[in-house]
Amino acid sequence: MGLFESVQLELFELMGYKKRQERKPSVYKPNMPNKQHEQRLPPELSFENFSCPVELIRKKNLRGLRFRVSTKANLEVSANKSSSDKEILSLLMPHHDWIEKQVDEAKKRLSKNPQKKWQSGQVFKWNGGPYELVFSPSSTKKPHIRFMEKSFEYFFPLNWQELEKVDFQEKLHTSFLYFFKLKASEVLDAKVDHWAKEMQLFPRSVSYRNQKARWGSCSSEGKVNLNWKLAVFNSEIQDYVIIHELAHLKHQDHSKNFWNLVENFAPDRKQTSKELQSTAFDADPFAAQSELYDFNPSLDA
Ligand SMILES: [Zn+2]
Repeated sequence: MGLFESVQLELFELMGYKKRQERKPSVYKPNMPNKQHEQRLPPELSFENFSCPVELIRKKNLRGLRFRVSTKANLEVSANKSSSDKEILSLLMPHHDWIEKQVDEAKKRLSKNPQKKWQSGQVFKWNGGPYELVFSPSSTKKPHIRFMEKSFEYFFPLNWQELEKVDFQEKLHTSFLYFFKLKASEVLDAKVDHWAKEMQLFPRSVSYRNQKARWGSCSSEGKVNLNWKLAVFNSEIQDYVIIHELAHLKHQDHSKNFWNLVENFAPDRKQTSKELQSTAFDADPFAAQSELYDFNPSLDA
């Protein structure tokens, strides 16, 4: 997180510098448009200097340049509409090695936990333990999913044509995402109640969301949001994030008082936080399609 921000800041400064230069009265130089700019770049410079696909996003009002390496090991670059490819490259190249390192890591992670297929026999994590997915034909009219003791079962109608369709995996993906998100409250509600009573800190509301860059957050109005994916992890991790967010009901910052309060209820919080960061990608059944791992997710704002 810190690294990402500092890179961004540096680029902002570079762009600011460039803009000041451009404010000088322009001088018409026949036959040499952009020559000065082009001379700064070696002729072989192109997006092919990166070992990964580069996705350019043009934005109207963006100042500077933003980039990140996505979960899918692509480089995503946002730049102002008026920046040329060469300008963007000249700002990106100083960070080439850092980007390549992130791409390598993203590829390694993906090869260990690639996009899982929704099919019988596949094992997913839930509440810290493995659950097997079982497909069962049944007399049901509509397909539905049910949690069993150590498995979750997908019941589908007999002679169901959908199973053969090309986009079936995509549909299942959406169904399971919805189902898991719904089930998350069954796992986490009781824990939130328990810790609220223990800490004597009661949120105005608790909601479970498909957050893209956070495990949890707490608003100044006392509303707690938790990433539903916490339901995937073991009890210690779930407890820690809940304690962290409830502690924000008393301290809206990460001050010493805040951490003291957290440590009263989660004495191993440093180790638990590390465990969350290092195991999350492998445990998350939706990791390969998630933006959560584009950069290290923080616990809150
Ligand atoms: Zn926090």
